Amino acid sequence: HKLHPIAAQDLTRVLRVAESVTAPRQTVRGADGRARELLMFCSNDYLGLAAHPALADAFTEGVRLYGAGSGASHLISGHGLAHERLELALAQWLSPQIPNAQALSFCTGYMANLGVLSALGDAEADIFSDELNHASLIDGTRLAKAQVKRYPHKDMVALQALLASSRAKVKLIVTDGVFSMDGDLAPLDELLALAEVHDAWLIVDDAHGLGVLGAQGRGTLAHFGLRSERLILIGTLGKAAGVAGAFVAAHPTITQYLLQAARTYIFTTASPPAVAHAVLKSLELMRSSEGDARRTNLVRLQAQLRAGIERLLHEHPHLGWQLVSSDSPVQPLIIGENAATMQLAARLDAVGLRVPGIRPPTVPKGTARLRITLCATHTEADIERLLQALSEAAAELS
Ligand code: PMP
Repeated sequence: HKLHPIAAQDLTRVLRVAESVTAPRQTVRGADGRARELLMFCSNDYLGLAAHPALADAFTEGVRLYGAGSGASHLISGHGLAHERLELALAQWLSPQIPNAQALSFCTGYMANLGVLSALGDAEADIFSDELNHASLIDGTRLAKAQVKRYPHKDMVALQALLASSRAKVKLIVTDGVFSMDGDLAPLDELLALAEVHDAWLIVDDAHGLGVLGAQGRGTLAHFGLRSERLILIGTLGKAAGVAGAFVAAHPTITQYLLQAARTYIFTTASPPAVAHAVLKSLELMRSSEGDARRTNLVRLQAQLRAGIERLLHEHPHLGWQLVSSDSPVQPLIIGENAATMQLAARLDAVGLRVPGIRPPTVPKGTARLRITLCATHTEADIERLLQALSEAAAELS
């Protein structure tokens, strides 16, 4: 009786099995048991590093050096040389944005968000949270003992009023850097200015900006040219970095406290050291001229996609589709209704294109959408093929 209402609202989620490496062309087995090669517009492997031979080599070398598993949590005996080296490299990479930064490893971004918000958001704190923040940040605020004040998406006037009326000893502003379902950027310059005026910390979850934006791929903080000890950065390493894991980079007072208090850090087995060893290689690639070349290609593809969709919407205004203004490789196309969105995704799937339909509760009701994500390893011809398929669907629906 719990599944029926989900199905009745066209909200049933289905699992597919990827049978080949993560790449724009991937063999995927669907619910019908059939495996097909699809052109994928859905991974968060923005720089196309997940299948990079140098990372596979580093991973293998890491396993040879350190074995398969870490054997214990960080504070018992699981914290290895590779974790330590990675934390030092991450802190150094991000030091232009966060002076004196220290980094602390977490197994996943989800766990980092739960750990940071539940530890820092104690009963003495108020948390100010953008309404479109990622589910893992929302879950973190649910675990926190702090009072949680949600502000309308990027509404700095509303946030200012909430901060001004807060009497809390500790104030935590929390936001996605790049919003995961909309692809737009948080106004981090304005957020940091407010944090300074109101003596607040600014926690930025840069899952979709790290590796992609800013000098050397240092993310949304670098994109805005920010530099402050008030910044607490949460980065995931399974997206643009192409591997797995996550970290928090912040002033040592924060990271040292998290080491004592973040339960998702303390009470879990440290990730395999080989993962950290592979991420070290990935960090080297992201910072290098190869990383720059990949980012340049990505920006070119983003512009091509955007211009193509704008043309399409101009030709078919009555469909009511809407392009969300995005500054990242996450490009949503809002369709509206759940069923119409899933039918369009199925149509694309039928011609060999995988573009996920995203429905409530992941996005607000009535804004179901195709979430197109691009990788540096897509080609112009790939984008053209997607635009052509969308254009044929639009013509048929008109
Ligand atoms: N934050 C954001 C904004 C995300 O999109 C995601 C992943 N979807 C996460 C955190 C969680 O990161 P991880 O996949 O490393 O758990």
